[in-house]
Amino acid sequence: MEPLRIAIIGGGILGVTLAYKLSQRGLRVTLYERGDNLGGLAGYMLYDGVRMDRFYHTILSSDMSMQTLIEESGVKDRLHFTPTKQGFYDNGQLYPFNTPVDFLLFPPLNLFQRFRLGLQVIYAQFESDWRKMDTIPVEDWLIKVSGRGVYRKVWQPLLRAKFDTTAQNVPATYIWSRLRRMMGTRQGVTSKEMMCYLENGYYTLIEALAHKAEAQGAEFHLQAPIEEIVIEGGRAVGVRVGGQAQPFDLVISTLASPILAQLVPNAPADFRALLAKQEYLGVLCPLLILKRSLIPYYVLNITDESIPFTAVVETTNLIDPKHVKGYHLVYLPKYLAPDNEMATWPDDRVREEWMGHFRRMFPNFDESDIVAFIVQRARYVEPIRPMGTLHEIPPIKTPVENLYMGNTVLIYPDLGNGEAMTRLAARMAEQVLEAVGSCQALSQASVIAEP
Ligand SMILES: Cc1cc2nc3c(=O)[nH]c(=O)nc-3n(C[C@H](O)[C@H](O)[C@H](O)COP(=O)(O)OP(=O)(O)OC[C@H]3O[C@@H](n4cnc5c(N)ncnc54)[C@H](O)[C@@H]3O)c2cc1C
Repeated sequence: MEPLRIAIIGGGILGVTLAYKLSQRGLRVTLYERGDNLGGLAGYMLYDGVRMDRFYHTILSSDMSMQTLIEESGVKDRLHFTPTKQGFYDNGQLYPFNTPVDFLLFPPLNLFQRFRLGLQVIYAQFESDWRKMDTIPVEDWLIKVSGRGVYRKVWQPLLRAKFDTTAQNVPATYIWSRLRRMMGTRQGVTSKEMMCYLENGYYTLIEALAHKAEAQGAEFHLQAPIEEIVIEGGRAVGVRVGGQAQPFDLVISTLASPILAQLVPNAPADFRALLAKQEYLGVLCPLLILKRSLIPYYVLNITDESIPFTAVVETTNLIDPKHVKGYHLVYLPKYLAPDNEMATWPDDRVREEWMGHFRRMFPNFDESDIVAFIVQRARYVEPIRPMGTLHEIPPIKTPVENLYMGNTVLIYPDLGNGEAMTRLAARMAEQVLEAVGSCQALSQASVIAEP
């Protein structure tokens, strides 16, 4: 029996993991990626012959789906665990925020406020009903447990960091989910935070998975933007790429919902409207390549709302600089609401604005330490899910027969990260295999496995 032909659209971590998982089960997979390389948001940039993450990427010690894939794809020897530290920048000062002692001495808060902040973190670990969290505005939840003072000093700047101006309308789920994920990096309250990185970034895993998938018969096409998903009689029958229709038995999209909406003119109108109305935060994220280290932290959270970037992330406090030719990498991200005009700023303007504030934060910084200032951007990063809109999350199996979809909208209440996306890939693969008949897929897998 001919194996079914499956098109996967999008070569980010989700698309590549799917290609690996489905080809492993004997399906004939072809992946189309618009860009020059695989990886998407988790892709790389080349500087001075070194591959580095476009955007800062860490793997948490609790990210078991990622670690399993790293092992299966044969790059476990390039995975490193490192204890990491974080700090806060408040009122012109840098404060460590790692140990219970740091916490008890954290000067921006008084003793009672520190106690309430601690209570919030513990409270999040015991709350397991995310649907309940989805009905509570994040601001109300945080003020109720932490109090107004802590909210203004700590939570409000962190919310601004993640949601820009869209924070008012988001449910408590987001901070709850983040607190639980971050606590997963510690074994108990007093232990150190552990994170992992892959030498040369997330792309190391993506490349290894793609090689495995190729060995299993998958095909990868780069610089191949899909122009349309061909739908006939309510059923997906192929894709149009380079002006040519390519027939497929099943099509899987891993694109952001508004992009997918544009590719399915013949899908039911209410489905297209649902996809098109999904809003996303974008990101503007300059990378400073430096000759020496700037701060002792992996991430420095910023409580000063006049500073346009919302954190200083020195990834070489996690990554050994020897893996990036001895450079020190500092990312200065700003998440952008859909209407934030900063998205239109040219790189020169971003540099001027960012560096003005950077000098104020680090008055002793020597500018001759800057080797490069590279601006990275992305339009569709984190979906914005306002309260009470759970019913607007589309299913993996779409109303168009033989069209499946997945993206960061479908992992709610998780936030976008490699762990959640690779788990989603496993769920999607299961549904696809069920649809094509797992028996057929299994028998094909054994045929392929024979020498
Ligand atoms: C600043 C930042 C920091 C982050 N930090 C972390 C972190 O520390 N840890 C972590 O786990 N995660 C992190 N993430 C999140 C992580 O990068 C994403 O959740 C994940 O990469 C999403 O993968 P994806 O495959 O779903 O989407 P994407 O990576 O967006 O992939 C979609 C792909 O589809 C392609 N495409 C679009 N249109 C078409 C078309 N018409 N035809 C063909 N292809 C098309 C795109 O080019 C892209 O390659 C971070 C993200 C950002 C932006």
